Order: sequence, then C-alpha cells, then structure tokens
Amino acid sequence: MSDFVCNTQVAMTRVFQRAKRSDRGRPINAHLNLTVDLGVIRKNVASIASAVGVDVLAVVKADAYGLGIEAVSDVLSDLVAGFCVFQAEEAVSCDLARRTGKRVLALGPLESEDPSDYTFHHITPTVFNVQQARQLRRVRPALCVDTGMQRFSCPPSDCRSVLAADLCGEAFTHAAQSAHIKKFLEITERFELTRHAAASGLLDNRDAILDAVRPGLAMYRNAFCVSSRLVEVHDSCGPAGYSGFLAERHGVILAGYSHGLRKGPCLINGRKSRILEVGMQSAFVEVDAHDRVGDEVVLIGGELTEHHLAGYWNCSPHEVLTSLSSAATRTYVH
Ligand SMILES: *Cc1c(COP(=O)(O)O)cnc(C)c1O
Repeated sequence: MSDFVCNTQVAMTRVFQRAKRSDRGRPINAHLNLTVDLGVIRKNVASIASAVGVDVLAVVKADAYGLGIEAVSDVLSDLVAGFCVFQAEEAVSCDLARRTGKRVLALGPLESEDPSDYTFHHITPTVFNVQQARQLRRVRPALCVDTGMQRFSCPPSDCRSVLAADLCGEAFTHAAQSAHIKKFLEITERFELTRHAAASGLLDNRDAILDAVRPGLAMYRNAFCVSSRLVEVHDSCGPAGYSGFLAERHGVILAGYSHGLRKGPCLINGRKSRILEVGMQSAFVEVDAHDRVGDEVVLIGGELTEHHLAGYWNCSPHEVLTSLSSAATRTYVH
C-alpha cells in the first residue's frame, strides 16, 4: 500500500515538474506524441542554404513552431547566420544568442526602448518609425518596411527619413508576393543595408533572394510526426458519439480539440483513415477489422503533411503544425 502511494507521488511530481518546465500554452498530453527528427531539419536547412546561396536566418519563433526552440536552434547553429524570434523574450528565456553563438533578430514590436537590454542579450530589435530608430541607434536596429502586410512595420512614406538618417544596419519586409519584393527594393535600393525579404513561401522566387532569407515552415518539412494510440476499439451499434456518426467499427484516442485536434484524415497502422468526431480530450476514428487497442494513429506526419491537412482544416499549414505540436509530449531523434 505504502509502495503504491510512494510511486504515485513520484509520478505526480514528475508530471508537475514537466508542466512547470514546459511553459507551453496548453497542458502537455502524455497520450499525444510528437517525434521531431532533428537530422531532417538539418538536411532541410542545408538544402535551403545551398539553393539560395545567401545567409539563412532560421525562424524559431513560437517555440520553433511547437517543435522546441532549444533543440532546433542547437542543431542548426553551425548551418545558419542567425535566428529570428518574434519577441525578444523568446530568445532571452533560452539564452539563444549565447547558446548558439549566433545573432538573434526580434521581428515583432519592441518590448523595451533601452538599448542595453538588447546589447546584453545580443538581440537586434526591429523598429517601425524614426523615434524608435533614434532611441535604439546604438544597437543598429533593423527596419521593417511595410510593403503590404500593414502591421508591425514602417509605412513606405516614413522609411526614407529613417534610412537617410543611417540609424539602421538592416532592413527587411514581411513579403507574401513578388509585388512586395519590388516595392521593398524601390524603397531601400539607394541605401547601404543588409536586406532580406523571403520566408518559406518565396524561397523559389529568385528576385526575393537578397542578402539573406528567413525560412520558418520550410525548415520543418517532413521532420515531425504527431501520433496517439487506440485506447478503445468497438464494433459500432448504430449512430455513435455526439454527432451520431455511422461507421462499422470505431476506435477512440485520448486527444481532442483542447490539444489542437480537428476532424480530417489520419493514418492507422500506416493506412489512410478518418477522424470521425473530435471531443474536448478524445476523438473517434474509423478503424478496420485488423486494428487493435494500442495501435498507432498518426495525426500529422508522413504522407499526412501540414499542407494536406490545411486543406481539410481550411487554415494555413503553420496553424496546423502549431496546433498539433504544442500540446504533445516531445521525443527527439537524429
Ligand atoms: C514567421 C515569419 C517568417 C517565417 O515564415 P514561414 O512562412 O514560416 O517561412 C519570416 N519572416 C517573418 C517576418 C515572420 O514573421
């Protein structure tokens, strides 16, 4: 009896420690497994770097899209020129610049107007107007030029005065299409600057490859798998679940919409199947006569890519990846 109590307490303590350490938006689900292949991420980055022939600034914001900023940045430090986060805080919390020995660019709005905060953590802040650029001139901030996104950036009409005052060492734009690149070049061409524009979506566009590229999603392609296991398998007797779905046989997994799951395809024992209904912490899946309790259900990974699921979910592949990765228990392989 006391043995049982003791073991339970140890297990509880571990769970709490993990929850405290993770600092992720959602509670971690022990039944949802994220496997990240760091070797594939390295290969992706190496092939991006050789294709573009310029510096790669690896985007590891939002905890490397839910894959884990520390593991991802550690494995990339020798391949990239620097790392991008959204908020400086993301880099500070894992001491990104010191750990990797690379520069860090914070892409989002300023969290401090004190230059020493940025020098101390080796972070280049991004500014959106002359006043911010003056305030932070000592750290040579980056200027984000608005070429169409219309947020977190400097209107084209104000860019000239910032650039002419030589307050920034670098300018970039968050470009979504070729027209944005053209506009960016027009605004910045007269100035001595490091310039970059391309995220994953524009890596194939030669005109978008300037002094550096800022890929996020493209680095993570085919490098992750989120799966769960069947905890129940039933021969259905009539309509089942909340929605009264019809299936000959159905299985249950312990992952639901509170863990980012939505209706769509899945892979059971490597075979394409369907998620029939998603509940808060569990979901029904369609199974066949061979599927058993304990069998693996892949929710993203392999042929089930983030782009494929984005079509079903009617959202971006980025949203699919961050939704499914953020609540899962992580395992890294090389
Ligand atoms: C997120 C982000 C990127 C990377 O976008 P992907 O589509 O994931 O490659 C690049 N630049 C900026 C400014 C971003 O916010």
